[in-house]
Amino acid sequence: MKKLELHWQILIGMVAGVLLGYLLSLTSTGSQIVIDYIKPFGKIFINLLKLIAIPLIIASLIKGITDLRDISKLSTMGLKTIGLYLVTTIIAIVIGLTVVNVVNPGSKISAENRENLMEDFGGNAAGKIQAAVSAKERGPLDALVDMVPSNIFEAAAGNGNMLQVIFFVIFFAIGLVLIDPKKGAPVKGFFDGLNEVILKMIDLIMLAAPYGVFALLAALVVESPGADVFISLLWYAFCVVLGLGLMIFGVYPLAVRVITGKSYSYFFRGIAPAQLLAFSTSSSAATLPVTMERTEEHLGVDEEVTSFVLPIGATINMDGTSLYQAVAAVFIAGALGVDLTLGDQLTIVMTAALASIGSAAVPGAGMVMLVIVLGAIGVPEAGLALIFAVDRPLDMCRTAVNVTGDAAVAMIVAKMEGKLGEPNPKQWNDNYNTSN
Ligand code: ASP
Repeated sequence: MKKLELHWQILIGMVAGVLLGYLLSLTSTGSQIVIDYIKPFGKIFINLLKLIAIPLIIASLIKGITDLRDISKLSTMGLKTIGLYLVTTIIAIVIGLTVVNVVNPGSKISAENRENLMEDFGGNAAGKIQAAVSAKERGPLDALVDMVPSNIFEAAAGNGNMLQVIFFVIFFAIGLVLIDPKKGAPVKGFFDGLNEVILKMIDLIMLAAPYGVFALLAALVVESPGADVFISLLWYAFCVVLGLGLMIFGVYPLAVRVITGKSYSYFFRGIAPAQLLAFSTSSSAATLPVTMERTEEHLGVDEEVTSFVLPIGATINMDGTSLYQAVAAVFIAGALGVDLTLGDQLTIVMTAALASIGSAAVPGAGMVMLVIVLGAIGVPEAGLALIFAVDRPLDMCRTAVNVTGDAAVAMIVAKMEGKLGEPNPKQWNDNYNTSN
């Protein structure tokens, strides 16, 4: 019998996880079973993905840059990448603002619901608010200072700061390109080999993906708040999901179609497992290994491009997050009765772009950075409590958009650089069936 394609396996894992989680959540013993015996496997799966992230960035970026050899090519590719990332982020925010202004979900939440939400989730939101306020109190160039680590091991510790690691690795690789090739050859050979090993490890981890997402979703269902909370926030969640849907099913595949000539189904079949994983883990950083593998092997993007464009994208390009921040800011303002001018809406475009760049690629980070947007338009931070209850499901959706945006930009950059080829799934993937 033909083995099911990976994205179907993952999807089945997700559905089974939700169903089992729901059934077991009906009794307290059932819930405890999920928390004690199923949730840990989800955690192990995420840990495995995170475990591989820093070594992958190091090996693949060094390989990618040293394969390029020509440093000027790196800077043109860098400019195109950053430019495209900015364009997609602005498009996402404009879509988010349009949807939220048309639907106006803030006006649909009753005073009673608003009070209940603030009461129920005010405490939970407090930690986020505090983290967010300290993020807001930073100087204008602090983000730039933060990019340059003073100790590479500290930067890499606890997957703490991907951008600092990327900075070091690019710097190292440039040094490697500039030295005598004879002396550099063993170093390059080592990182090329390391890259292969890590890619094989990702293959092995992906064998567990259907089970990993099963455990993650079962635990999520058991631990989520009741349905009535969701219903009172339905209009807000609808706006976010509609905006994200327009990005994922409209803007990206259309841009890929027009610029690279690749069809919708080609794009989705290639990237679907990464999207599903992003949805299940709510972390672009944890999904990065899979985004890279799928983009390279299944979307035909040359390794030179993926190894440079995707690690940077996972850290700075968060279209889903920026869209969500724009919608959430307008929703909270509306619910709290703060009127927004056109100038405020423009401020949202600017600050949501910056806040999404600054958001870490981990669960819930977008909500922490939202406070920057709220502060810029004069909306009280305590309003975060309003959206706390539905943040996790929306985080899952926006993370899927974030990784899709990275993959779409990688394809477009590859096309511009003449580096877009045919899928090559056999290269590393003998372990699971990916016959797309
Ligand atoms: N979870 C998102 C990501 O990893 C960031 C966010 O919270 O919006 O891409």
